[in-house]
Amino acid sequence: MSDPPLLEVEELIVEIPTRRGTLRPVDGVSFTIGRGEILGVVGESGAGKSITGAAIIGLLERPIRIGGGRVTLGGTRLDTLGEPELRRVRGARIGTIFQDPSTSLNPLKRVGDQLAETALAHLDISRGEARDRALRALVDVGIPAAAERLDAWPHEFSGGMRQRVVIALALIGEPELVIADEPTTALDVSVQAQILALLRRLCTERGVGVMLVTHDMGVIAETTDRVAVLYAGRVAEVGPTRRVLTEALHPYTRGLMGSTPDASPERDARERLAQIPGSMPGLTALPPGCAFHPRCPEAMTRCATDRPHPAVRGDTRVWCWLHPPDEPPAERRP
Ligand code: SF4
Repeated sequence: MSDPPLLEVEELIVEIPTRRGTLRPVDGVSFTIGRGEILGVVGESGAGKSITGAAIIGLLERPIRIGGGRVTLGGTRLDTLGEPELRRVRGARIGTIFQDPSTSLNPLKRVGDQLAETALAHLDISRGEARDRALRALVDVGIPAAAERLDAWPHEFSGGMRQRVVIALALIGEPELVIADEPTTALDVSVQAQILALLRRLCTERGVGVMLVTHDMGVIAETTDRVAVLYAGRVAEVGPTRRVLTEALHPYTRGLMGSTPDASPERDARERLAQIPGSMPGLTALPPGCAFHPRCPEAMTRCATDRPHPAVRGDTRVWCWLHPPDEPPAERRP
């Protein structure tokens, strides 16, 4: 029997209450992440990628709230935890890496102190050991002359080196899961590749699961084991990266991969999607049925009225009526 997944997101709904009704930027999203596995979450801006990550770690800004579904990390339900418990889970069990290192690093604290304090907050260790771990963490992420850089300030590091420090910070509490939201978007292409390879190596070595949010298909192709494609707050398909890249089941994914022969993974989602007529609908104008139907070259009559149910095809799950489910879907959980 295979191991239970590290992270299980089931039918997750995120709501924004407004005067004109409740909007759903995330509407019934389901996926899993195993230990040591990198799941890429890809889609256009506004598809619900980052807000899904924020919901998992309990960082939704009010009045945005979880409106349904469940999030389970290693057997612990996260979506029902209160803020004090969630704060303990963040850092201790979940590390975060964001696009802008300044959201993770305190500019007024030396990097060694920040690392040691994070280690002390989450691990049962002495101050001396925390300092040793801080040094080891900088060595592990490839900071040259780490011993001398321990007392440096964040601004004394280059962009790429700062993002290495952020990775060290995300991993020093020995988390089970890392949520990395566009971690390399702000970096030069050559530095991007180094940072992604580093993240990949450290997580595989330590058995850490990673949710890697990106709009960049090149990043997906080179870094991830599986990929979840999001469209208008819903999953279009989720499956092994190689298979999704070469034999996408969902018409939107095929559009994302590029429908022309010169499409290459280096081109980002925005460029590729120029090939699909129209644009992703806003939250206030979601069409009924399949949200992609107004743009879909393969739409059928029922697509305009019935929302697709998930179908399992090998190790892929796809939400599209071209692939009808084998069995009637289970009732949605509240
Ligand atoms: Fe296209 Fe219909 Fe599939 Fe939606 S459900 S992607 S409209 S074929």
